[in-house]
Amino acid sequence: MPTCTALIVAAGRGSRFGGPLPKQYALLGTQSVLGRTLAVLRATPGIDQIRVVIAAGDEGLYQAAVAGFDLLPPILGGPSRQLSVLNGLEALAVDAPDLVAIHDAARPFVRAADIAACLEAVAAPDVDGAVLGIPLADTLKRVTGRGAISETVPRDNLWLAQTPQIFRFEPLLRAHRAAAALGATEATALTDDAAIAERAGLKVVMVAGNGDNTKITTAEDLQRASTMETRTAFGFDVHGFAPGTAVMLGGLSIPHVQGLSGHSDADVALHALTDAVLGTISAGDIGLHFPPSDLQWRGVSSDRFLKHALGLLAERGGRVVHLDLTLICEAPQIGPHREAMIDSIARIAGIGRDRVSVKATTTEGLGFTGRREGIAAQAVATVEVPRS
Ligand code: MG
Repeated sequence: MPTCTALIVAAGRGSRFGGPLPKQYALLGTQSVLGRTLAVLRATPGIDQIRVVIAAGDEGLYQAAVAGFDLLPPILGGPSRQLSVLNGLEALAVDAPDLVAIHDAARPFVRAADIAACLEAVAAPDVDGAVLGIPLADTLKRVTGRGAISETVPRDNLWLAQTPQIFRFEPLLRAHRAAAALGATEATALTDDAAIAERAGLKVVMVAGNGDNTKITTAEDLQRASTMETRTAFGFDVHGFAPGTAVMLGGLSIPHVQGLSGHSDADVALHALTDAVLGTISAGDIGLHFPPSDLQWRGVSSDRFLKHALGLLAERGGRVVHLDLTLICEAPQIGPHREAMIDSIARIAGIGRDRVSVKATTTEGLGFTGRREGIAAQAVATVEVPRS
């Protein structure tokens, strides 16, 4: 198995990005763009080590972005991408790997399987490099300075090159050293590492990748990429009847011939909703956060539990899309209190009442709810959280 070091190019200043931070350090949900890229490479079999090329002055941003990753020390980039990569290659040459996988920090959506396909392609004996890319799907036009189309370029055999671009280390280092000696005009035409390898006569092959592997260039790209993901989770709870004159349901006190027994105010509806919300962020259940053995929760109003779960969701940058509750009991009748209960849950959750649904059913006299021994509640929470 050949050794392979990933060289991540994160030295760009991102003039087209325009945000307060260089794009590689901007947040994608809860993780930096660079951090997400590193996580994919770390999880790719065949990539032994990772080294990042950064811009001078970005050391603090870099350290914050790579916390928790086991990486070789960063390398300072040069005045151009090409020279940044050369700096990286020279640093790796001290203890040269067999292969180097050069990858843009700003391509965080690369798939481990596609990197693996590149590694396999470069393993062929007559191949010096393998580049991830996709066939061109759009029609290609040549346009003059004033916007007039002068030519439709046949797109047969045209591909868009992405990264990673994986090469045998020694020939690529030689090719880069040769390219560094070129004049500015000639060097500018070499816009990726494959171009440098091709110029040196190396055999580079294209490996079909995925359209997801886009490069984050503008703030709009980042916004598109940060799209939240939707999650749904379920909650369930039961409380038994006990002597009393009212039951708490959805934060509402409803007069009844009995009360509900339980450690807090026994609001079975809010408990089911709390578990549903906790489920969306895989944060355990209500008993984990508010142990029944803990005396401080005795008699406490259950809106605290739901607010706590919603607070955890908010800490993760998430928000509630919808809460759906079903109460299962013979009595009390829920229908007359439905609208007030929707208002109450919406108020506790801090969402519009159109995002809350309250339903009720009996079990036709069957089971413990049919025997009027208690109330069961089922809840489904739908939330949006930043894509992790
Ligand atoms: Mg409960």
